[in-house]
Amino acid sequence: MNRILIVEDEIAISDLIKISLETKGYKCEVVNDGEKASDLIERKKYDLILLDIMLPKVDGYELLEYIRQTFEIPTIFITAKNQTADKIKGLRLGADDYITKPFEIGELIARVEAVLRRYNKGNETQKIDDVEINLTARIVKKCGKEINLTPKEFDLLSLLIQNKNYALYRETIFEKVWGEDLDFETRTLDLHIQRLRKKLDWKDKIKTVYKIGYMLEV
Ligand code: CA
Repeated sequence: MNRILIVEDEIAISDLIKISLETKGYKCEVVNDGEKASDLIERKKYDLILLDIMLPKVDGYELLEYIRQTFEIPTIFITAKNQTADKIKGLRLGADDYITKPFEIGELIARVEAVLRRYNKGNETQKIDDVEINLTARIVKKCGKEINLTPKEFDLLSLLIQNKNYALYRETIFEKVWGEDLDFETRTLDLHIQRLRKKLDWKDKIKTVYKIGYMLEV
């Protein structure tokens, strides 16, 4: 199930978007200011972000820059301003699409679906050399042969794949895979990385990034 974060300070609009997307089977969370949004993005996994530009505390542009520097999450801007300059600024910063308020909910859903398709999150099978990973069915195959991963190993692998070629901080990895309720335990993460490297024969691909954490280099 795809998880969508809705960052919008107009409650009527965020509620409407949430209800509409949930009837389509998406799991949605709503947050009303930019600061809370960045906290959530850091802690949880989202497949897509719907981002208003004019927001309290941290505006949509700043938030998008933050998202683009750290995570690879598709983002659609929601803007009240029907001005070309804002759209261009948003797209330059790396937004995948934008939608102008007021909008038809059907149009919003179509854009969400199109962006997710582009990111291949619909029925996600990724191939990295001889390894094939189906992120929705949670199946990993190497040279066509299924590899047994523990649930945490799989979550770790998905996170690395979703952020491939980005160095991930160990704290970020730990929080995203093990959740907020566990104390940070370095050895657990390192052990899981070792197991993944061994099971997939990815000793060279899963890099240790000095003083930061790990990165899947493909
Ligand atoms: Ca707003």
